[in-house]
Amino acid sequence: MFSIQDLQKKLLSNETSSKSLIEASLTQIEKTKSLNAFISVLSKQALEDAEAADKRRAAGKSIGPLDGIPVAIKDNLCLENTRTTAASKILENFNAPYTATAVQRLKDAGAIIVGKTNMDEFAMGSSSESSYFGAVKNPLDESKVPGGSSGGSAVAVASGCVPGALGSDTGGSIRQPAACTGIVGMKPTYGRVSRYGLIAYASSLDQIGPFGTNVKDCATILSAICGEDSHDNTTSARPCEDFSKKLGEGVQGKVIGIPKEYFAEGLEASCKATIEKTLAQLEKEGAILKEISLPHISYAVSSYYIIATAEASSNLSRFDGVRYGYRAPDVHKLFDLYAKSRSEGFGKEVQRRILLGSYVLSSGFYDAYYVQAQKVRRLITDDFKKAFESCDVIASPTMPGDPLACGTSSSDPMAMYLSDIYTVSLNLSGLPGITLPCGSSENKIPVSIQWIGKPFEESALLSVAQATEQLVK
Ligand code: GLN
Repeated sequence: MFSIQDLQKKLLSNETSSKSLIEASLTQIEKTKSLNAFISVLSKQALEDAEAADKRRAAGKSIGPLDGIPVAIKDNLCLENTRTTAASKILENFNAPYTATAVQRLKDAGAIIVGKTNMDEFAMGSSSESSYFGAVKNPLDESKVPGGSSGGSAVAVASGCVPGALGSDTGGSIRQPAACTGIVGMKPTYGRVSRYGLIAYASSLDQIGPFGTNVKDCATILSAICGEDSHDNTTSARPCEDFSKKLGEGVQGKVIGIPKEYFAEGLEASCKATIEKTLAQLEKEGAILKEISLPHISYAVSSYYIIATAEASSNLSRFDGVRYGYRAPDVHKLFDLYAKSRSEGFGKEVQRRILLGSYVLSSGFYDAYYVQAQKVRRLITDDFKKAFESCDVIASPTMPGDPLACGTSSSDPMAMYLSDIYTVSLNLSGLPGITLPCGSSENKIPVSIQWIGKPFEESALLSVAQATEQLVK
């Protein structure tokens, strides 16, 4: 797998040009078309941008490590004058009137966007099968899903189309597809990256983050996209940092918390053994392993699916067939226009979530579900706070086992929801997390470890992740 670092070296030594990199990327996208990773390919603009990057480099004015490098972005991120669909029929012909802040920052750093990637419709799912544009395929094993919802971004990286990509993560949508395809994916702390221009799913949980083939590349992308933004008042005012600054520090003396609830029933045996082996290796390198407890974690999936669907039902009410997006034809009454446009424009899974969300918010049920879920959210956040008093990072699985078999998400949606067990708690509590492969299962599918960090301590998190990467290489 190729990396941003390698490509940048080749560019700087004039071994290649940005134009050739973009051409190679476009060729690979064409070759791997059957994986269905892309909804739109932006060949013309990308080639023009590459020429500009090559000119900058020739004039000694390169802007940094991403300059001239091909990247892909998830199709729920707005890019001005470009189709942005969130993989939904309702936005099939929607051209974004502006660019998302994270995407603009990536462009300002010189990165070249070659395409917009396929995903679960409105980022609802963990399998990338609910897209209006068809399912994304896993290049490692086509009978298994590539994970979701940012499956297209993960597959674009894993299949060598681009060395890096952006996804969004509301309950695991960056970390799970990274794990299912054997690459690195990171969800930053809530507030680290602006959500302006990200088509909202559940605004208190959504966060944009990077995919890469290695930890350092993820640090490079995060450094480019992070920081305060006046368009999103949930962004933190903390100054942007160079997230690679702690790479190479190693794990000597670092206390790794191991939640006993995460390594109990429900985790597939070979997955557990692989992660435990990695932890033992880290202990040999000087890390201190410490059992911790997250007593309320068993309620994470239920409270997540209440909060996420509640917010989704509200966020998606804007798609009403009036202002933008799909409008059902031949309707003459306003209510019928809403009803028909929404039932024809939204897919099954999205409709299920809107119904669930409206139900948990409805009077009579609000206190029993929504308020209760918010209380649980606080308890889970407090569990992590307490745990971090005695450890520096927390180790966890990313997935309970191998990726789900294709088709499970529609035949058994509960099975899909339950596969979010290790990822949703970070979104509920706003914590940063990174996942990377640390071995493979009996079926020769990568097993990934998830590292959970303290709020805004991405640098420390990346450093432990890189130490793990070096050990398992
Ligand atoms: N699988 C979770 C869901 O369906 C998370 C999706 C995401 O992070 N966007 O809601």
